[in-house]
Amino acid sequence: MHKNYWGGAWHDGGAGFIDVENPTTGKVIAQQAIASVEDVDAAVRAARAAVEQREWSGMRPGDRGRMVRKLGEYFTLNRMEIASELAAESGKPLFEALIEVDGTARYFEYYGCQSDNFQGDSIPLGDAYIDFTELEPLGISAQIIPWNYPLEMVGRSVGAALAVGCVAIIKSPELDPLSSRHFALAAEYAGFPVGVMAVLCGEGAVAGAALAGHPDIDQVVFTGSVATGRSVAKAAAENLIPCVLELGGKSAAIVRKDADLDLLIESVRWGVFFGAGQVCSALSRVIIHEDLLLEFNERVCELVDAIEVADASGIERESLVMGSMISPQQRDRAANLVQQALDEGAVMLAQGKAPTQGSFYPPTVLQVKAGSSIEQTEVFGPVLCVIPYSGEDEALAIANGTDYGLVSGVFGQDINACLYLARRLRAGQVFINEWFAGGVETPFGGVKQSGYGREKGREALFNYVATKNIAVRLRKQ
Ligand code: NAD
Repeated sequence: MHKNYWGGAWHDGGAGFIDVENPTTGKVIAQQAIASVEDVDAAVRAARAAVEQREWSGMRPGDRGRMVRKLGEYFTLNRMEIASELAAESGKPLFEALIEVDGTARYFEYYGCQSDNFQGDSIPLGDAYIDFTELEPLGISAQIIPWNYPLEMVGRSVGAALAVGCVAIIKSPELDPLSSRHFALAAEYAGFPVGVMAVLCGEGAVAGAALAGHPDIDQVVFTGSVATGRSVAKAAAENLIPCVLELGGKSAAIVRKDADLDLLIESVRWGVFFGAGQVCSALSRVIIHEDLLLEFNERVCELVDAIEVADASGIERESLVMGSMISPQQRDRAANLVQQALDEGAVMLAQGKAPTQGSFYPPTVLQVKAGSSIEQTEVFGPVLCVIPYSGEDEALAIANGTDYGLVSGVFGQDINACLYLARRLRAGQVFINEWFAGGVETPFGGVKQSGYGREKGREALFNYVATKNIAVRLRKQ
């Protein structure tokens, strides 16, 4: 039984436990304790005690940063064990799980290096005053995490929260909560003060809602679906606390007539078939100049044929293998959306093969009409929509024509023309000639229903602090 962790101790679930299944086999691999509302309350009390004790926030930032980096060291030292566990509970290929573990370690390294490099200002007010600002940690950062990247999402936002002196309560996802216990183990390894890190799993509507609406948290960071994001934002508004929302997407690349199709195909491989397409910033729409459509179709069919869909939990080296989706429900949802699209007149350009057992779904490419339901809906699976265009204003209108605005892309060799489009795309990030270009250093987040606030990069540090101004009237000498 995997327990929950708060106040420096492991706890059974006040709401019992759940069976965690391996989605590639459907077999139960472990039990996970499930937090009750009372457990959430106890975790918040332990976190509040740590805030009031001020050991973590009052520590010299260089020392705190070193401890945050030690979290990353723990993930690096135990990368194979953690990645194997993650692969088993999520259906990811082992090489994808290793990328996630390494990414998590990298976030802790990056944010650990920012602790003593993040400071307020001195504001000149003339001889009669000294005035300065301090960036005070908000206190308790509640972090509600989705199942698609249960480790990396925590590294991304908890790394920044801890670096500036907040304490964190992580609500791990129900479908793949097992590997999240390593955050508690890492905190023990790094010698964190009691109460600074809590990790608990619980049902979203019970423990998640109790945490998001708890009157004694200071901030909530939510990564997940639009519907849940809306309820988390309401709970935060009720308590008048800040909230960061990283929600869904239906991200598009505009492919200009002068695009390099090799770069585009490479981006399709990683952009929509990595993580079996269960990525918020997936390349889920290719809006392609009509003159390139035939050649792109041929190339994308070759790619889809080359992708093997299989249990890849033992495949360590990066390869053209795609794992399973997270659950039969997610697989069926993707299948139903594709069927509905075909019924509405979409054309199947390519579809691979997938095992019939487990939660596998094959890589799928559809030619669709702008405005059709699948062109507007986040599938969260390995499904690419292709939409041809003739003029760039039309391409922009299609790209910007969904409720989402997470990321976008442009492919083309005329960089001026690409930048012209990039400036007009309504999205928090635009990739030019490589999907997922950037790194832990580059700000990430959405506009419209993709949410608000930015994670990653130095900008994210400001999510976790309040600026305090201290103004001092000096005595005349
Ligand atoms: P979800 O909204 O169902 O669940 C996310 C988390 O919220 C889980 O931990 C869940 O237990 C919890 N939750 C559920 N109901 C809750 C409630 N009422 N109050 C508080 N917490 C609650 O989302 P999901 O299905 O796990 O994840 C898929 C979605 O997440 C997709 O839409 C995807 O695009 C999005 N996502 C976004 C990003 C990003 O950075 N923008 C990253 C990953 C995933």
